[in-house]
Amino acid sequence: MSEGIITASYVGATILFILALSGLSNQETARRGNLYGMIGMAVALIATISGVTGNLGILIGGLVLGGTIGLILAKRVQMTEMPELVAMLHSLVGLAAVLVGFANFMDPERLSHYTGIELTIHDVETYIGILIGAITLSGSVIAFGKLSGKISGNPMLLPGRHFLNLLLFLGSIGLCVMFVDESAAGGGTMPLLIMTGIALLFGVHMVMAIGGADMPVVVSMLNSYSGWAAAATGFMLNNDLLIVTGALVGSSGAILSYIMCRAMNRKFIAVIAGGFGTTSGGGGGGSVEDQGEVVEVHAPEVAALLADAKEVMIIPGYGMAVAQAQHIVNEITKTLRSKKVNVRFGIHPVAGRMPGHMNVLLAEAKVPYDIVFEMDEINDDFPKIDVSIVIGANDIVNPSAQTDPDSPIAGMPVMECWLGETTIVLKRGMATGYAGVQNPLFFKENTRMLFGDAKKSLDEVFKNL
Ligand code: NDP
Repeated sequence: MSEGIITASYVGATILFILALSGLSNQETARRGNLYGMIGMAVALIATISGVTGNLGILIGGLVLGGTIGLILAKRVQMTEMPELVAMLHSLVGLAAVLVGFANFMDPERLSHYTGIELTIHDVETYIGILIGAITLSGSVIAFGKLSGKISGNPMLLPGRHFLNLLLFLGSIGLCVMFVDESAAGGGTMPLLIMTGIALLFGVHMVMAIGGADMPVVVSMLNSYSGWAAAATGFMLNNDLLIVTGALVGSSGAILSYIMCRAMNRKFIAVIAGGFGTTSGGGGGGSVEDQGEVVEVHAPEVAALLADAKEVMIIPGYGMAVAQAQHIVNEITKTLRSKKVNVRFGIHPVAGRMPGHMNVLLAEAKVPYDIVFEMDEINDDFPKIDVSIVIGANDIVNPSAQTDPDSPIAGMPVMECWLGETTIVLKRGMATGYAGVQNPLFFKENTRMLFGDAKKSLDEVFKNL
């Protein structure tokens, strides 16, 4: 392929990626957005591969191997495991940036190719690429552990952690100066290796210090880092498309982190500095015994309550994803709407385990988009709601976020369903949610608990309707 066609393909792929992002910003256009992204990636791969000379066998072998692993993973992964998969994929982007950085550094032609200021710029690009890549790599592995429950969600707060972070930061700058100096004379391996170790430690420390309830910000932040790591790799390889694509991912991830912080009423710097989400200090409303009695209901009563209601609000949470209850939720919605009940869905920005998790599930079940609302749009309507059904949600409907300043989720806006007439909570037992705190909602006078797997419970409710 000629240089001109490759450049034109890169421009085409860039436009397709931008269209993909804009498509993904809305449920109705998300499918189209995905398609643009896939075509863009295919164009980008074909154009890049056709520009490669030599070692094609290795390249194709790598492509087939990586593609096969990706295909198997995508087919096997459960919807509830998606957040962990995304975290793992972020870590691979980080690993790729580290490996490309080292390969670049070890390139025997590097010193004959670049001299003077060009060499310095190239070395700084390599250094930054490895730095961001290593932070993304280790941070994402820890995020994977926290999301899958293999590592405790509680923040690990080392004494003097801010000082430690500052020390690591200053150390990285010092090592960069050392690296650039030594590299011109053919050295530099040691400072680069030490910095990689520091960056890996920093990634671990940064994510370990963040409490369970703030994980959504970490997920979007690592998404952003993986983009910047890819952009840095683009600079190292002189690949414009990789620079643009990395910048798109980096900036959209940064915007998402901002949106998540706003949704949780947190300051980004405070989240990154860590410490939120601790369960020490008695926050979170105490143990089950302290709270009083819960009132249990059964499916026939729930069906009767729903059939009598005029205004119903459905609040889905992570448990709906676990139970895969979205389809039966849609059936119940259709039945109620046919009986002239006004059914709406209220979606909390951090419901589930990844941004947009609930919207994806509801779209999959073909719930009409026009009855699905963001929390900000419907939170004031609860006093007019007859029945709210909380399906496997916990932290996002926890009133202690408003009433208990010691709670790990203090200050996070929540769905104020207790202001409605009756709230029905579907969950299997009295377990806490992701933030690990008990929920006073379950003990309120106007709350009824329907215990059991959400799908099985809703199947029963549907039969009774
Ligand atoms: P929570 O994790 O707070 O609560 C989920 C509840 O679902 C649990 O209490 C559980 O109770 C119940 N549950 C689990 N399985 C089932 C089932 N099969 N049937 C019925 N109930 C079930 O989820 P929320 O959506 O309310 O809140 C999200 C939390 O996740 C927030 O703390 C958020 O910060 C965090 N988070 C969000 C991310 C995002 O990007 N959205 C990313 C990372 C973390 P029981 O076991 O008793 O059934």
